[in-house]
Amino acid sequence: LAPAYIRSIAPYVPGKPISELAREMGLDEASIVKLASNENPLGMGPKAKAAMLAAAEDIARYPDGNAFALKDKIASKFGVSTQHVVLGNGSNDTLELIARTFLTAADSAVFAQYAFAVYPLAVQSVGAQAIAVPAKDYGHDLPAMLAAIRPDTKLVFIANPNNPTGTLLRPGELLEFMEQVPARVLVVLDEAYTEYLDPAQRADSIGWLQRFPNLIVSRTLSKAYGLAGLRVGFLLAQPEVADLINRVRQPFNVNSLAQAAAVAALDDEDFLARSVEVNRQGMKQLTDAFVRLGVSFIPASGNFVTFHCGDAAALNRFMLQRGVIVRPLGNYGLHDCLRVSIGLPEENARFIAVLEEALAS
Ligand code: PMP
Repeated sequence: LAPAYIRSIAPYVPGKPISELAREMGLDEASIVKLASNENPLGMGPKAKAAMLAAAEDIARYPDGNAFALKDKIASKFGVSTQHVVLGNGSNDTLELIARTFLTAADSAVFAQYAFAVYPLAVQSVGAQAIAVPAKDYGHDLPAMLAAIRPDTKLVFIANPNNPTGTLLRPGELLEFMEQVPARVLVVLDEAYTEYLDPAQRADSIGWLQRFPNLIVSRTLSKAYGLAGLRVGFLLAQPEVADLINRVRQPFNVNSLAQAAAVAALDDEDFLARSVEVNRQGMKQLTDAFVRLGVSFIPASGNFVTFHCGDAAALNRFMLQRGVIVRPLGNYGLHDCLRVSIGLPEENARFIAVLEEALAS
């Protein structure tokens, strides 16, 4: 029915929903801890929630197709013009829009071996060649990625921090890469988890847009801003690049509840700071436990940690039976790893207790 390049796409495997696990295992939904999808354990911020509920009053109307207020908020917050902004139904949408705008079946795109699963999905769905470059210490091998660029390569995807491995590139490494990559190749720098970094770890990516017209910076409100279910992502690029992507974008791809909540969320510095602090403490709680239990893990930036555990499928089953949902990474070829998202202190404690029980059994 579909062309071979569509049939070759590996299905995306999302985290198991709480309701599904409750049904499967006969567990009470309230007893289940989901640490599988890198969500914000605090939920959505109070200001965003109030704005979303207020917007619900007008839900019979179409959203603002140009999302004037949200683009304006993003532009002023990040020091760019509204012409630099493209909005998406989550950053998955903007990543896919980039592929649809710039790739044809005659082109290729480069990314790292353990890079985010949506990159191959977006690239293969337009029939382009996906070039996965072997990882270095579970992260990006930038010199190898540079060397992998072919005459038909139009895009490079870099996730920093990377999901699912949590690896981080230094600003200097990224800058060197940008200086060396051919100007005809667009570089998508996916910074979905950037809010969790210390300021010194962060690249001045948005500041680089002027100097590198081939740079696209991708952000999301699904993580530290707590709006994963509403689906809001955006990218920043030079107006010529943003204009092309906006031509492909469906006009109402960000719904009105999402637009209203996103404007309020971007203004709520208190909630953002609280989210980052809960994450910092949770990261320590989890990694301290891994050290104490002798479990090796990949040093992580972001709101999750990937750890080694031998037979990951078996440990995953053990955890699911006890109401703890984490993320198996078999689709990335990481069959001896699980990824755990950072939750509230009591959720992390449940995960640690079940891990301890598994190790003792
Ligand atoms: N990029 C990376 C690296 C991610 O980990 C994720 C979320 N899993 C996304 C993009 C997409 O997030 P969203 O579509 O919710 O904005």
